[in-house]
Amino acid sequence: MSEPSYRRVIVKLSGEALTGSQGFGIEQATVEKLANDLVKAASLGIELGVVVGGGNIFRGVEVSERGVPRPVGDTMGMLATVMNCLVLEAAIERAGCEARTLSALAMPAVCETYNRKRAMKNLGKGRVVLLAAGTGNPFFTTDTTAVLRAAELEAQAVLKATNVDGVYSADPRKDPKAKRYERLSHQEAIEKHLKVMDSTAFALARENHMPIIVFSIAEQGAIEGVLRGKGRATIVG
Ligand code: UDP
Repeated sequence: MSEPSYRRVIVKLSGEALTGSQGFGIEQATVEKLANDLVKAASLGIELGVVVGGGNIFRGVEVSERGVPRPVGDTMGMLATVMNCLVLEAAIERAGCEARTLSALAMPAVCETYNRKRAMKNLGKGRVVLLAAGTGNPFFTTDTTAVLRAAELEAQAVLKATNVDGVYSADPRKDPKAKRYERLSHQEAIEKHLKVMDSTAFALARENHMPIIVFSIAEQGAIEGVLRGKGRATIVG
């Protein structure tokens, strides 16, 4: 097998990746599978930061449609990401690798607060660092968080896990004519309004020359496969 060319990466998992067949919330067996994949990837000697979304529990926009102020809905969304990180942290430790959740919103009774130095220190010790509570600010997404943390923590790429094996011109599950891209620039992703990440995330990645590797999390060992340059993925950037 080829040797990985990365030293440090940020993996972005959506909240949906934790739902399994349930379609909502957290399915423990799915969390265990993700944790095993992450531990295998970390065993390659690559430092892993993981940004987890919260859409399986709350999304700010959806909460605000029910009349709750958007910043409150977004705070609920950020708290949802903390729950997802905690369950994943426990599963990673059970799978045999040390892990630490660092939250952008201070909650000292629950986990440590994110700061760059602390994250770097934990990564350097070979711990999987779970980056919780997004950016800590409303009106942002965890995709933007992943790019932000990748730039801050000097990672070489963002690995964006999805349900499909790359970026398509349209949803391939709905449109049989959807074209799959092997490689495209950040600018093209923005101009074509590709839905794989929000435009703030793409713009930040473009400014910081941060590659985004879009791949399917469905296969066991998918993260390790991407790190070894195997398997199907689209490289943006
Ligand atoms: N969120 C936020 N600020 C951030 C990151 C996330 O307010 O920096 C909130 C926002 O409401 C978002 C929710 O947390 O809808 C969950 O994050 P996201 O939608 O990115 O999760 P995913 O779709 O990846 O599961």
